[in-house]
Amino acid sequence: MAGVVMALLVQSDMATPVIADLGTKEQIDEFLVPAMRGEKVAALGVSEPAAGSDVAGIKTVAKRDGDDYIINGSKTFITNGTQCDFITLLVKTNPEAGAHGCSFLLVPAKTKGLGVSKKLVKIGNHSSDTAELYFDDVRVPRRYLLGEENMGFMYLMQNFQSERLIASTSACASGKYALERTIAFGKDRIVMGKPIIKREVWQHKFVDHATMVEAGQALSYKAVDAITTRRTSSRPRSRWTR
Ligand SMILES: Cc1cc2nc3c(=O)[nH]c(=O)nc-3n(C[C@H](O)[C@H](O)[C@H](O)COP(=O)(O)OP(=O)(O)OC[C@H]3O[C@@H](n4cnc5c(N)ncnc54)[C@H](O)[C@@H]3O)c2cc1C
Repeated sequence: MAGVVMALLVQSDMATPVIADLGTKEQIDEFLVPAMRGEKVAALGVSEPAAGSDVAGIKTVAKRDGDDYIINGSKTFITNGTQCDFITLLVKTNPEAGAHGCSFLLVPAKTKGLGVSKKLVKIGNHSSDTAELYFDDVRVPRRYLLGEENMGFMYLMQNFQSERLIASTSACASGKYALERTIAFGKDRIVMGKPIIKREVWQHKFVDHATMVEAGQALSYKAVDAITTRRTSSRPRSRWTR
């Protein structure tokens, strides 16, 4: 179940909101509209073998060449990577400038030089594919740049606000579901004449877990409240959807 949620959320809440926020009319028509219709699968390409949490450390480079960019590098852990139609890709356009040298490009998956180097085998989430991708002189037109050049890190961090909140609310829901199933098992399972949930040592553990899930949920809801209040007042919206 978590794998299906992961695949769909990458499409709806991770790879595409930045297109809705910043896309030109042509980018919205070519990428966002078919993605929302379910006709194109989207992936978000940020993580690299040596840059996960440290997003500003990415090494995939896009060099300007006339009216095009030429991309070289690799990405890893890319959800939907083996089956996507396009990638919302974070690249370095100014490798010396750290966080201020990143940009977002929209890259059709069939572009020459782009391929899947490995489909990753995971211990769970099997209904969601995860891939390593390579970029070998991948040429895309400049009109596929999202927003302003070298502003990609800021756009990504803004997108992370809701993306990470979705992860936290779904983690709380999974925790709650696991606890409910465990309590049901504890009531059913009779050991030495009593259901195990009646054993004091287990009751302490259940109470500790229930407290953590409740606290996590309360904190997530508080953050959701804060972000929705701020977003309705100040989030920049696309010129095309306003
Ligand atoms: C199933 C799955 C799907 C994914 N899908 C995508 C996707 O679609 N697109 C994409 O771009 N990425 C994706 N990712 C990658 C994910 O975003 C990264 O795994 C994540 O950013 C962490 O990077 P890392 O694995 O390199 O860990 P690292 O950055 O190496 O971190 C390792 C550990 O160190 C801790 N750590 C890191 N920095 C610090 C610090 N400064 N202080 C203290 N602790 C620190 C981390 O919390 C972590 O516990 C996916 C990952 C998984 C597992």
